[in-house]
Amino acid sequence: MTSSEIRKKFLNFFKNKQHKIVASAPMVIKNDPTLMFTNAGMNQFKDYFLGNQEVAYPRVTDTQKCLRVSGKHNDLEEVGHDTYHHTMFEMLGNWSFGDYFKLEAIEWAWELLTVEFKLPKDRLYVSVFEGDPSENLAFDQEAFDIWKKLVPEERIINGNKKDNFWEMGESGPCGPCSEIHIDLRSDEEIQQIPGKDLVNNDHPLVVEIWNLVFMQYNRLADGSLKNLPAKHVDTGMGFERLCMAIQGKKSNYDTDVFTPLLDELGAVSGKKYGKLLKEDIAFRVIVDHIRAIALSVSDGQLPSNNKAGYVIRRILRRAVRYGYTFLDLKEPFLYKLVKILAKQFEEVFPELIAQQDLVEKVIKEEETAFLRTLENGLKRLEAIKADLSRKKETVISGAVAFELYDTYGFPLDLTALIARENGLSIDEAGFQQEMARQKDRSKSAAKMETGDWEIVQEGADVEFIGYEQLEAEAKILRYRNV
Ligand code: ATP
Ligand code: MG
Ligand code: MG
Ligand code: MG
Repeated sequence: MTSSEIRKKFLNFFKNKQHKIVASAPMVIKNDPTLMFTNAGMNQFKDYFLGNQEVAYPRVTDTQKCLRVSGKHNDLEEVGHDTYHHTMFEMLGNWSFGDYFKLEAIEWAWELLTVEFKLPKDRLYVSVFEGDPSENLAFDQEAFDIWKKLVPEERIINGNKKDNFWEMGESGPCGPCSEIHIDLRSDEEIQQIPGKDLVNNDHPLVVEIWNLVFMQYNRLADGSLKNLPAKHVDTGMGFERLCMAIQGKKSNYDTDVFTPLLDELGAVSGKKYGKLLKEDIAFRVIVDHIRAIALSVSDGQLPSNNKAGYVIRRILRRAVRYGYTFLDLKEPFLYKLVKILAKQFEEVFPELIAQQDLVEKVIKEEETAFLRTLENGLKRLEAIKADLSRKKETVISGAVAFELYDTYGFPLDLTALIARENGLSIDEAGFQQEMARQKDRSKSAAKMETGDWEIVQEGADVEFIGYEQLEAEAKILRYRNV
């Protein structure tokens, strides 16, 4: 089954169970101070759970563009190094807003996976919330009893608050959950260590695919839990992981979601995925990051120096540097992958193909700007490394990290990443001090500067309003990076 067929089958399954198929919300969130990017399918329905908005359809299903690079759910460091965490991923979901609850949610999930998708039952594990006395939360007996009718008891695992009590962020709707995990190892490996022992243990082949959340509480800003006005179901399944399981692969990157991108990157770089670990990580990082970047830009979020825009810029610079260092890509290359994505997402996220030219242009401009300073920045880092090694030290000072940021456009996390690769660390507190000092300096300076410069300094975010504005932003970029 192709990934596109898998997505359709999921949506149609729930459509046949009276769910309304709705569109993904944008990945970039504009009006929620608690969240910068959509990190789960439930975000767009938050107000239904809280009872702030009248429910249009009690049952809904969709595939949601998610990004997990900041806040409570931040997977950035894992991406590319493992084979199943992405920055941007699709979360397939079905919801009940005060309609059905645990029984239907669990039975349908099991039916879809084992009957429709024909995943082997003896490779699946399920988990239920074990409870947490410190918050007066009970063991989820109800979910356990439902599962017991479907799977042998030895395949049901008790999970703690970290894994089995889902929370969107520091505050907001939350509740106990039941998850489904799959063991993709060989029979031999399974003989050696039972899959049950590897669930929730970061094993690349024993992975979580689906989370069924039973929304019952609202976490308030003071940390306390309050009952929601009604009980709801919120499920989220990692689409790329589901494709891996159904297509019989051992890595998300071996599914047809990623192979066209890897092939194109191979053609562009003259290298081949699957030969050298260092290059493979770079391949994975790049084909992952381009999805996050392209879909953010098509959502109207340009790379910038603030907030969401800076997150996108950081992801882009990270990808460019992986290509530069490990795949010998010294010219802009990321933008060349956009056409593959635009085609792939044509039916599901048509906003990308509709703005393909713009997206390519923005990305190419941003790559070009960073490549102008990247080489010198890397040289500077080499000199710093040599200096530290002479002094038998391992910490890059805040002042130096700030110089790399300010002069060469190296986001702090990029310098930290390169430092880690070389067995070094960074004085982050020192960096923040330098940053604060510069902000003070520029506050007075900004008054005399042009309007463009003020945009950069004053913390206003940049979003796509039209081509003219885009040209202006490109100029700011150039200005900032020379
Ligand atoms: P994990 O434990 O693997 O980090 P999670 O428990 O953080 O996943 P949930 O918040 O429960 O994930 O999200 C629901 C589903 O979304 C997961 O079961 C998984 O299939 C998928 N998922 C979560 N994070 C990612 C990611 N970074 N990349 C791809 N899929 C993901
Ligand atoms: Mg996670
Ligand atoms: Mg988990
Ligand atoms: Mg989970």
